[in-house]
Amino acid sequence: MIIETLFEKKKPVLSFEIFPPKKEAELQNIDATLETLAKLHPDFISVTFGAGGSSTNNKTVELAKKIKKDYGIEPLVHLTCLSHSREEIKAILNELQEAQLWNVLALRGDRNPDIPPKDDFHYANELVEYIKAQGDFHVSGACYPEVHTEAEDGVTDIRNLKKKVDAGAGHLVSQLFFDNDNFYDFLVKLRIAGIDVPVEAGIMPVTNRAQIKRMVNMCGAVLPEKFEKILEKYGDNKEALFDAGMAYAVSQIVELIAHGVDGIHIFTMNNPVVAGRICDGIRNLVGG
Ligand code: FAD
Repeated sequence: MIIETLFEKKKPVLSFEIFPPKKEAELQNIDATLETLAKLHPDFISVTFGAGGSSTNNKTVELAKKIKKDYGIEPLVHLTCLSHSREEIKAILNELQEAQLWNVLALRGDRNPDIPPKDDFHYANELVEYIKAQGDFHVSGACYPEVHTEAEDGVTDIRNLKKKVDAGAGHLVSQLFFDNDNFYDFLVKLRIAGIDVPVEAGIMPVTNRAQIKRMVNMCGAVLPEKFEKILEKYGDNKEALFDAGMAYAVSQIVELIAHGVDGIHIFTMNNPVVAGRICDGIRNLVGG
């Protein structure tokens, strides 16, 4: 299956994101998560990749193979480049080719002071170009409705995104956001900039207060006033905040679908309860 062409046949596309567990034993347990996710009929499942030198990286490919073989669901394999040489990337692509895994989310990866960058790739557009030159891969890219944290400004960020699309990224998945209006504005700017590929909205269902703080620090997500109010009221009540977080994510998705977005990408955090709760709330909206 070619993910970027899915959007011609179906709207909204529904996808999940999972990460390879660090421990071998947890990789065995991932079946419980995948079984639940499979029942929700996603169009594809994406699998994250360590930013560099991580032992979980080979598990990304392993997990992607499992998703395809055992569950018949198309995986989208994340691949980061900042800390990898061309040869290392080529070796991973060979492995993907052997496993007939043709859909890759090409990423630069976050800068990490403990992992020195290698000099072969500096930005994701270079990785997109390299992968496209290797054969039959279909490449997706990341985008940032509220501007990437390192970007000079929104205009520069979109100009850089255009380089990624021009290099061959045929589908974009957005960073998480909590304010739909920012996503709608971003879509308009992309179309003005001549970026016409499908863009999936990245949704992170909030499960606890620490997680929100981490997210805001990491990716600079804007918290709208109504969201701050929820935190104020339920922040000290774990169960209530979980319910409120699920309800918020569902209402965000309902509105996005009504707006006519191309797709919804749910960051599941490997939590089948979260994915199940969200999908219960939108089942008849996505035809799953
Ligand atoms: P780029 O597109 O290269 O952009 C990075 C910055 O450089 C931006 O500020 C951009 O404006 C600028 N820029 C881009 N191109 C150029 C250029 N040619 N010249 C000058 N400036 C340029 N990280 C992981 O480690 N593993 C994962 O599995 C993972 N999955 C992700 C999934 C999604 C949906 C998203 C949104 C992010 C994910 N990330 C992951 C995080 C990602 O690696 C970071 O956000 C990283 O900082 C940027 O990656 P990118 O591919 O968007 O980079």
